[in-house]
Amino acid sequence: MDTIRLAEDQVRIQTLPGFAEGYNNIAVAMLRLDLLHPIISGNKWYKLKYNISRAIAEGKDTILSFGGAYSNHLIATAAAAQQAGLRSIGMVRGLHAQEERTTVLQQCAAMGMTLHFLSREDYNRKNEPLFLQELANRFHQPFIIPEGGANEEGRLGAGTIAQLIPEDYTHVCLSVGTATTLIGIRNSLPLSQRVMGFAPMKGGTYLNEHIKDHLFPEKNANWTLTDWYHFGGFGKVTSRLYEFMGIFHADYGFPLDKVYTAKMMFGIKDLIQEDIFDRDAKILCIHTGGLTGN
Ligand SMILES: *Cc1c(COP(=O)(O)O)cnc(C)c1O
Repeated sequence: MDTIRLAEDQVRIQTLPGFAEGYNNIAVAMLRLDLLHPIISGNKWYKLKYNISRAIAEGKDTILSFGGAYSNHLIATAAAAQQAGLRSIGMVRGLHAQEERTTVLQQCAAMGMTLHFLSREDYNRKNEPLFLQELANRFHQPFIIPEGGANEEGRLGAGTIAQLIPEDYTHVCLSVGTATTLIGIRNSLPLSQRVMGFAPMKGGTYLNEHIKDHLFPEKNANWTLTDWYHFGGFGKVTSRLYEFMGIFHADYGFPLDKVYTAKMMFGIKDLIQEDIFDRDAKILCIHTGGLTGN
């Protein structure tokens, strides 16, 4: 694969006329981070940028990170490392993933990432210092990035997405996996703007504690996290969600990804109907990308 080109100049805010059907003073628009790159999720790139610069500053020649066989983070890591001229190692969850050869893993390999497969048991040790030390010794001291880019550099990088958000939006909605992006954005936006996270998995509000722990104390306000719109769990899709995605695509001319942003947009529509937004709310939804999963 050729060197990665990010279309940063393509990222724009697109209005979604009629989305708040019946509530016509509510304005809904989308920040199209998905336009950064066809296979690299927009937010993943932001979470990696300071990790890559720190790796280079530390004189590292290899990045090592973790993810499942469908991980948007692993693809982005492979791409970011390749672009920076660094080698990359992907530690993949599950020995069965070796035979699966998902598109994601093929794309990682095509971008020069060396893949290693871990049993579920080993994978679950991915944040243990002793295990990380073993990996560091085994792979010649690479720069290790946690799953999902969920570290300080990741949060700071995600925070720079806030620079793309004009101040007149009253609500900023985004989909949540590790909550790294939500934390970074909440820490960087003015408190007057409400940040609303949508978790696409069952029981996603377990992340509340993690979020509070990593928000600057003065920024720990005016944010919410809902896990109501999980559609059966992470990665699960129902016919109702597919139908919603089809209508959205037809109405606005671009797709939502089924794992994250489709569930968020469904949730926003539902909350508008439930009348939880002010009548003159100005809602900005972030399209984080992830379209390889479709
Ligand atoms: C990873 C991902 C998210 C979640 O980001 P976190 O920072 O882990 O919360 C949201 N949307 C898409 C498309 C993603 O790939």
